Amino acid sequence: MRALTIDAHGELDQVVFRDDVPTPELASPDDVRVRVHSASLNHLDLWVVQGVPGIRISPGWILGSDCAGVVDAVGPAVTSVSPGDHVVLNPGVSDRTCEYCLSGDNPLCLRYRILGEHRPGTLADFVVVPATNVLPIPSAIDFPSAAAFPLATLTAWRMVMTRANVRAGEQVLVRGIGGGVALAALQIAKSRGARVWVTSRSDAKLERARLLGADETINDRTEDVAKEVRARTGKRGVDVVIDCVGEATWTSSLGSLGKRGRLVTCGGTSGPLVETDVRRLFWNQWTIMGSTMGSDGEFARIVDELRAGRLKPTIDSEFSLEDGRQAFERLRSGEQFGKVVINVADL
Ligand SMILES: [Zn+2]
Repeated sequence: MRALTIDAHGELDQVVFRDDVPTPELASPDDVRVRVHSASLNHLDLWVVQGVPGIRISPGWILGSDCAGVVDAVGPAVTSVSPGDHVVLNPGVSDRTCEYCLSGDNPLCLRYRILGEHRPGTLADFVVVPATNVLPIPSAIDFPSAAAFPLATLTAWRMVMTRANVRAGEQVLVRGIGGGVALAALQIAKSRGARVWVTSRSDAKLERARLLGADETINDRTEDVAKEVRARTGKRGVDVVIDCVGEATWTSSLGSLGKRGRLVTCGGTSGPLVETDVRRLFWNQWTIMGSTMGSDGEFARIVDELRAGRLKPTIDSEFSLEDGRQAFERLRSGEQFGKVVINVADL
């Protein structure tokens, strides 16, 4: 089959299209093989190409965490989907037996595996996953939109709904609008009835975010975000910050938080090391929370939102599998607004 692969970690010239990759077989009675129609990129894919501490890949490693497609084959124990069904995949595979899985916290699983990072990925003609990771979608939903949906929306849903538990009327600041998680967080927080602030280093992105419902916009490059938030809220600050940027935004994210504020982080695209003044943390009684991916229950919830048309991802650009490296370059440029999609099959 065809696939987008790396043989070793490094720069994006490691990303190679191949057409001689063995087609994966069902490995267990619970497995499903999906013919991938569209896939989408996440910042995680850039980390995998560069190399993630503790993660070892084998040559011919298939990249990609997100996809949508059609069920091609199912194991004898599978009853939830059948060949021909249109489906989306939960990119996180958990064992469903450890104490964290049993308490409904699959992303904390002791054996958590993400497609494209710990298991062969989705940027290929076929991918094999446990049936519990596959949910059907109506055939009216186009494959690029469905493929752009799972990882970013799942991550944002857990951050906004489960971790921060954003309530109607609260002020929510989302850093780095344009990224997949940030755009999903904007939509989810708006649907929750929050007043949503967004930041970006690009006025064009801020303008587009307004069209998607952002109430307040701040340019990270030309304005002091914390000062601006304080000025516009009568010194009160916001209730919640959603931050996936890390080093570049951490200090001003905390500086924007009001008393009792909650900050949720799911990553550090600008760098991992941040500085927190513990005096302000205890005095203001802030809560700083980590979050990653989402549980089986949260995945079912977001797919319900997708089916109902209540949440829809923004697509920045689409590429063919052969031109997959260009898709990675687009993501690394940081200029995208929305998801970068790779169409694996001819649509
Ligand atoms: Zn587990």
